[in-house]
Amino acid sequence: MNAEAHDPAAARDAVKDADRKHVFHSWSAQELIDPLAVAGAEGSYFWDYDGNRYLDFSSALVYTNIGYQHPKVTAAVQEQAARLCTVAPGFAVDVRSEAARLIAERTPGDLDKIFFTNAGAEAVENAVRMARLHTGRPKVLSTYRSYHGATSTAINLTGDARRFGNDTATAGVVHFWGPFAYRSPFYAATEAEECERALRHLEDTIVFEGPQSIAAVILETVGGAPGVLVPPAGYLPGVRELCDRHGIVLILDEVMVGFGRTGTWFAAEHWDVVPDLLCFAKGVTSGYVPLGGVAISPAIAETFARRPYPGGLTYSGHVLACAAAVATINVMAEEDIVGRSARTGAELLGPGLRALAERHPSVGEVRGLGTFWALELVRDAATREPLVPYNASGADNAPMAAFGAACRKGGLWPLLAGNRVHVAPPCNIEAPDVAKGLEILDEALSVADAHMR
Ligand code: PMP
Repeated sequence: MNAEAHDPAAARDAVKDADRKHVFHSWSAQELIDPLAVAGAEGSYFWDYDGNRYLDFSSALVYTNIGYQHPKVTAAVQEQAARLCTVAPGFAVDVRSEAARLIAERTPGDLDKIFFTNAGAEAVENAVRMARLHTGRPKVLSTYRSYHGATSTAINLTGDARRFGNDTATAGVVHFWGPFAYRSPFYAATEAEECERALRHLEDTIVFEGPQSIAAVILETVGGAPGVLVPPAGYLPGVRELCDRHGIVLILDEVMVGFGRTGTWFAAEHWDVVPDLLCFAKGVTSGYVPLGGVAISPAIAETFARRPYPGGLTYSGHVLACAAAVATINVMAEEDIVGRSARTGAELLGPGLRALAERHPSVGEVRGLGTFWALELVRDAATREPLVPYNASGADNAPMAAFGAACRKGGLWPLLAGNRVHVAPPCNIEAPDVAKGLEILDEALSVADAHMR
C-alpha cells in the first residue's frame, strides 16, 4: 500500500493531477474545469476523498437506474469475466442470446430482434441507417428540442445548441418543432391545442419535404436532455398514424427513458405506441458496462433477411455488457424497480416537487413521470423568462451556478441543463432519501428565488 492510501487529501490531489494532465473531458474547455474526484459509490450515493457524500439526483448521466454497486450485477460481471471475457460478435453465445431475449420480451409490441451497440449514439446511428436502407429514402426528421448523441449523424439530428459545432454536416436532416405546452412554439393555449397544432406542423413538414424522400421520424419518447418534455396525450399516436400513412419509419429514442425511468419498462407504453425501431442504452445495464442497441420490427428485420445489413461494431453485444444487462434486468424484475419508479413519482417526487413550486416563485413548471422530473426555473413567473438565457455560459449562467453550488453544499448532486433542474435519482431510491433530496432542493431554491427580477 502506498502512502497516499492513508492520506485522503494526497490521494485526491494525485487523482486530480493525473486527470488534469492526461484526461481530455467531453463538452468542456479543458482548462476551465475542476472535476470532483470521486472515491466511491453505493446505492443512491457517491462520495469524494474529503468525506463528502452526495445524494445522486442525476443517476450519473441518468443511467444508474438500479443505483451504484448492486451486488448481483457486480457479481454477474465478475463471474462472466472469469468464465468468458470476450467473444467476437459473429458467434452465438448464451449470455448474449439471453440478454436479447430479456430485452425483446420487454420492448413494446413485436420488436423482437436486437442489434447491439456500445452506447446510445451508436444505436441512433444504426437505427437511421436501417431506416434509410429499408425505405430507400434519404431524409430524417427530428425535433429542435432533442438530444440524440454526439457522433456525426446523432449530433446533427440533435436539435439543441450542441449541434452548432457540426452544422456543416446536416445533409438529410430536417428539424421540426415538437409539442411543448409551457413554451409553445405554436402559441397554443391548451395541451389539446398544442397537440393538434404540433401534429399539423409535422404533417406540413412531411408534405413540404416530400414524403417519398423521408426515411424516418426520430423522437425521444419523452424529451430528456431538453427538459423532460412529456408529450400531450394524443401526440405520439398521431405521429404513429402520420408515419404509417406516408410509409415513414418511426424511431423512438428511449436511450434515457427506457428500463424503468418513467415508471414503465419503456416510455412508449404510456401512450400505447409501438415504433418500428427503438433505441436503448443507459439503463439496460444501469451503466455498469456500456451497452446500447436497437430493437427492430419484423418488417425491417425482413429487409435484412436475405441481404446483409452493412454495419457492425467490433464489440457489438460484448459478453461482459450482456452479463450486466441480464443481471440488471433480472434485478429490476425481482425487486419491482419499475413499479417502485412509478410509485416514487406518483406518491413522493411529483407531490414533493409541486409543493416546492408553490413555495418558490422561481419554479415556473414541474414536469415528469416516474423518477424522471424537471423543474423549469424562471426569472419572471408571469413572462416565463428563463432564469438564464438559452445556451448560457460563464457570467450569464451565474444564477444556475449559484443554485448548483447550494445543492452540492447541502449534499445533493442534481443534473443542471440551461435553466432546468433535472431530478432523476435511481429508480429504486428509498423514501427517506427522496425526502432528504427535496429538503435540500427547498433550501437551494431560495438562492434561485433571489436571482429573480
Ligand atoms: N439519445 C438520448 C435520448 C440520450 O439522452 C443520449 C445520452 N444522453 C443519447 C442518445 C446518446 O447516448 P450515448 O451518450 O450513450 O452515446
